[in-house]
Amino acid sequence: MKKILLVNPWIEDVSAYDYWLKPVGLLYISSMLRSAGIEPVLIDCLYRHDPDLVRYLGGKIKDRYYGTGNFYHEVIQPPESMKNIPRLFKRYGLPEDLFRKKLRELKDVDAVFVTSMMTYWHYGVSDTIRVIKEELPEIPVVLGGVYASILPEHAKNHSGADFVSPGTGIVPVKRALHFIGIDVDLNDNWLDDLSPDYSNYPELNYVVLITSTGCPFRCSYCTSWKLWERFNQKSPEKTLEEIEHLNAMYGLSDVVFFDDAILIGQNFKTLLKMIKERGFNLRFHLPNGIHARLVDEELAVLMKETNFKTIKLGYETANDELQLKTGGKVSNEEFIKAVNILKAAGFTAKELSAYIIANLPGQTFEDVERAINHCEELGVIPNINEYTPIPGTPEWRELVDSRRLPAEIDPLLLDNSLLPYWWEESLSIAQLKLLKEKSWRVKERLLSHV
Ligand code: SF4
Repeated sequence: MKKILLVNPWIEDVSAYDYWLKPVGLLYISSMLRSAGIEPVLIDCLYRHDPDLVRYLGGKIKDRYYGTGNFYHEVIQPPESMKNIPRLFKRYGLPEDLFRKKLRELKDVDAVFVTSMMTYWHYGVSDTIRVIKEELPEIPVVLGGVYASILPEHAKNHSGADFVSPGTGIVPVKRALHFIGIDVDLNDNWLDDLSPDYSNYPELNYVVLITSTGCPFRCSYCTSWKLWERFNQKSPEKTLEEIEHLNAMYGLSDVVFFDDAILIGQNFKTLLKMIKERGFNLRFHLPNGIHARLVDEELAVLMKETNFKTIKLGYETANDELQLKTGGKVSNEEFIKAVNILKAAGFTAKELSAYIIANLPGQTFEDVERAINHCEELGVIPNINEYTPIPGTPEWRELVDSRRLPAEIDPLLLDNSLLPYWWEESLSIAQLKLLKEKSWRVKERLLSHV
């Protein structure tokens, strides 16, 4: 039987936090391989409860908010492009020695498939591949995932992989298998027929699931609709089966849905009705910015009855012109209505928060401040996220075409934590700090009243 090692690589950045980060795409690939008669094995460099890591750190790893937590990290040499930026560069995830030890135990694999997430985390990908190549020099290494799909040429030139397979769904997996000499039929209906394969994790308190891929909206700063050709949904029955199976396997505490557009259609409500009927003793979370426009009374009540503990609403900006210009996914009125419906169902600031982007082109300090104020008035915690120009998005294209952003630049520097250090259009570091501090004060005030 052929055996393929799947690797979730290190993150190298100035900051990172395990906010329910699980390589769901890679775990679906694991299931695809299994169903094709290929044995998958997994090294997840970002698995904070890895038994080797727990032993290395001399005890249990501390979880914070419902299973999230800090990654183990080491300060490393920053790349040349960061030489004028006064921030420490860190590697998050397994210590290198432990990673090498795990690789040495897997010398019999036929290939290594490495995934990738953010484009600005490419140094973590290339360092991971460098170590794999040093330990398993004869084994072909294939790179896929988000970075490889958004910047395939950059990935070919810099990652060190033998083959880069961009794209989503089964096509890049088939291409990768063909590269290593395996031609098999894979199930086109993978989202509905397969589940993320968590079987390589010895211990889990939470699982991340998706009930859909892609997004029918077209926000100018986002890449979801570019990565996935079509919006696809999984049947609620299959999602319920996944929850039942994984809960029986691990005795879960938390289930996290990481869809981009979970509220489209009726599937999610149907799933919630089934969850309610089944009566799980679980907490549920929606951390990925749901569409406020699609929140109604029935949904809010169902979420309350099924024990949702994290509901993040995508608000982004209080500036109505910018709301329209960036895709019109939400208006101030729709946001206010959604919050009021959720509050009427019994949710408070303990569960409710809103994503606000800071630094969007054309956005002022006052815009962001107004969005924070709206959140405070409504009793929703404001979460400030600095804007990252994602290569290939309309927003990025406009900035590059108008020469407001260089096209040829180390993608690391587009990271929202680094952008304010060099981008002339950015709000200053001091302004961003003020906005964040304001949002933290609002959070404290709101939580003190719950
Ligand atoms: S609604 Fe969300 S996921 Fe969809 S395109 Fe807009 S930002 Fe992206």
